[in-house]
Amino acid sequence: MELLKGKTAMVTGGTRGIGLAVVRTFLKNGASVALCGSRQETVDKALEQLKAENPDYKVIGLCPDLQNPSEIEQAVNTVKETFGSFDIIVNNAGVSARESIYDYKPEDFSRTMELNVNALFYCSQAAAKVMKEQGGGVILNTSSMVSLYGQPSGVAYPSSKFAVNGMTKSLARELGKDNIRVNAVAPGVTKTDMVAALPEAVIKPIIAGIPLGRVGEPEDVANAFLYLASDLASYVTGEILSVDGAART
Ligand code: NAD
Repeated sequence: MELLKGKTAMVTGGTRGIGLAVVRTFLKNGASVALCGSRQETVDKALEQLKAENPDYKVIGLCPDLQNPSEIEQAVNTVKETFGSFDIIVNNAGVSARESIYDYKPEDFSRTMELNVNALFYCSQAAAKVMKEQGGGVILNTSSMVSLYGQPSGVAYPSSKFAVNGMTKSLARELGKDNIRVNAVAPGVTKTDMVAALPEAVIKPIIAGIPLGRVGEPEDVANAFLYLASDLASYVTGEILSVDGAART
């Protein structure tokens, strides 16, 4: 069953990792998708990869500067003009941080907040305007397991993900009247390029702390997004769905 047949989606941070898995899962489920990245080369590489998997996929690539609200608005309008509607946005682009509070540079703190929080606000605002006009839509955010417990370094990253949860719950309450659902997925440790490259000695103790006995695959996370994007979740809004194997670190 194609859960997103006839729907259109835009996915930020869609060139690799969790975002690319979301793009692929949405395409397999009948959606038309705009994948966004920070560089044209990585966008083109992801498009090439997807077209090689299935030449019939309806997918385009965009490169809006996520710090620039008018470029984001333009990207949203391009999706609507290209595919005929704008139904789903997945705010997934994000950077993590590990600096100690004693060495943290204010500009590094700001950089994390600008992408993980400010950009999510700009993208949600641009998407909500179009969705309201067309009678509804779905806004989805990538949070993190650290949004529940914090993390013992890199304070900007957990702070930004707590903010993602706050924005998710607040916008769900504000936008329900416009038939716009807003939810987040909170992944645990997920096997993106960076995690896959970790040495055995680092990954083993991480796995030992995960009751399901393995790290997550990007597809595990993408399937949660698929559910929340689809009509199966038609009465679900303001939720933060953990996809972490019950890890509590
Ligand atoms: P990744 O580093 O593999 O991919 C990041 C994506 O964000 C890329 O597509 C990149 O183009 C985009 N991006 C980075 N900086 C950007 C910028 N300045 N402007 C526009 N786009 C930019 O990351 P990932 O591990 O797949 O993470 C995706 C999301 O999942 C992030 O929000 C991250 O915080 C969250 N997350 C990841 C994990 C994990 O273990 N991988 C766990 C919890 C949450």
